[in-house]
Amino acid sequence: MNTLQNPRSKSDTRRVLIIGGGFAGLNAALELGGIAGVEVTLVDRHNYHLFQPLLYQVAMAGLSPADIATPIRSLLSAYRNTSVLLGEAESIDLPGQKVKFDFGELEFDYLVLACGATHSYFGHNEWEKYAPGLKTISQATEIRKRVLSAFEHAERVTDPDEQKKYLTYVIVGGGPTGVELAGAIGEMSRFTLSRDFRRINPSHTRVILVEAGPRILPMFSEQQSNRAARDLEKLGVQIWTSSVVTNINDEGVELGDERIRAATVLWAAGVEASELGQAGGMHVDNRGRVLVEPDLSLEGYPNVFVAGDQASYTHQTGSPLPGTAPVALQQGRFIGKTIRNEVKGKPRSKFHFRDKGQMATIGRSRAIVEMGRLKLAGFFAWVVWLVVHVFYLTGFKNRVLVVMQWAWSYLSFRRGARLIVDRGWSPAEEQEPVTETENEEVTVPPEH
Ligand SMILES: Cc1cc2nc3c(=O)[nH]c(=O)nc-3n(C[C@H](O)[C@H](O)[C@H](O)COP(=O)(O)OP(=O)(O)OC[C@H]3O[C@@H](n4cnc5c(N)ncnc54)[C@H](O)[C@@H]3O)c2cc1C
Repeated sequence: MNTLQNPRSKSDTRRVLIIGGGFAGLNAALELGGIAGVEVTLVDRHNYHLFQPLLYQVAMAGLSPADIATPIRSLLSAYRNTSVLLGEAESIDLPGQKVKFDFGELEFDYLVLACGATHSYFGHNEWEKYAPGLKTISQATEIRKRVLSAFEHAERVTDPDEQKKYLTYVIVGGGPTGVELAGAIGEMSRFTLSRDFRRINPSHTRVILVEAGPRILPMFSEQQSNRAARDLEKLGVQIWTSSVVTNINDEGVELGDERIRAATVLWAAGVEASELGQAGGMHVDNRGRVLVEPDLSLEGYPNVFVAGDQASYTHQTGSPLPGTAPVALQQGRFIGKTIRNEVKGKPRSKFHFRDKGQMATIGRSRAIVEMGRLKLAGFFAWVVWLVVHVFYLTGFKNRVLVVMQWAWSYLSFRRGARLIVDRGWSPAEEQEPVTETENEEVTVPPEH
């Protein structure tokens, strides 16, 4: 096996290996950028950092992939002590202090695991092909294709039952992502597409949001959750609570004896942490998240840290912190600072998450926001949501582009990225998905 060395590595420097360039990994790397005595190598299976909170906008044709993705290499290019590699981590040898990648092995003095999460179909992986989840750019463009193609098929068919099937969209899972998807399809069918078809009336589209629990958005107060439900219903979304999906196939969704015939089913129900922790023999919780110590390190391995969606940190509230961007970002920064301090001989401290609140958007101009005791809903909440998301979006160019696209969509009710893009052409049988973006640095290799 090929063991690679950082080209600038010196014997007295500490080698920090970061796996994952999401919110956690990227922020750990930024904290260590330019620090003397530290050599950082960040490896990600994609060459870009993805701003997942706006991924639903790509799936719903509001934004293009490059608006929410930035090449990791460019984000870290200012730091001479930092290298970026494209690759997939396959296994970890904790005692031997090395990680096996698809391109070779890398040794480390410190390891930061920040591989995020993936979807969980609760033991029914066979549902995935009928009901894609939303976690990557490839999945977002696939969802966009399915959602837009269903309208096109409905316009073509003459059988009313088939037409109804194409115009029925089921979203499974009433958390923030499910709510965002349902609201966006409702809005698209009622407003954006209302004048574009001749044989169908897009406003007759059925959008059904299925939730197993008694209410949508259970992480919000009941009052806010009810407000979100009312706003969704105004966009034509039907909300089915206390409804458990028992099967999904090419005919639609089954909920016990109930069947919904639908051509498009989207999955926003469950997540599970990256398999890398489980494969590495680490202690994990029931969602595959690695159990970490108060300083985010692994029990018995103080030089190995786990952060973000991949970590289960229970030392603050007794239960794991939520899988959100602020948790990942703050944990990444904390780990970067911990390593920085340790190199300078300073002691470690305990991680503490500063919760600044939560928000979810519903359609083009409504949202709910909870910040401590402050609860906002409707248009003003949506403005707050917009400002926060643009503020945290990575890259100045992306911020400008997103604001311009939103302003245009808001004023015109249009969606700029309403393109049905097939998989890229390739002479081989195996085809790779591509984006139609203007940013040639962002490429999308096949999902793993
Ligand atoms: C659709 C959607 C909407 C969301 N909306 C919100 C929101 O509104 N607000 C909010 O706070 N949070 C939201 N989240 C959650 C938030 O995005 C995550 O909590 C956050 O991205 C976690 O950051 P992370 O760094 O742990 O993981 P990620 O951001 O997922 O990054 C993990 C990185 O690891 C890489 N990777 C994974 N496995 C490997 C491997 N084996 N080898 C190499 N690289 C690997 C991946 O390519 C990726 O770049 C949303 C998530 C989704 C999917």
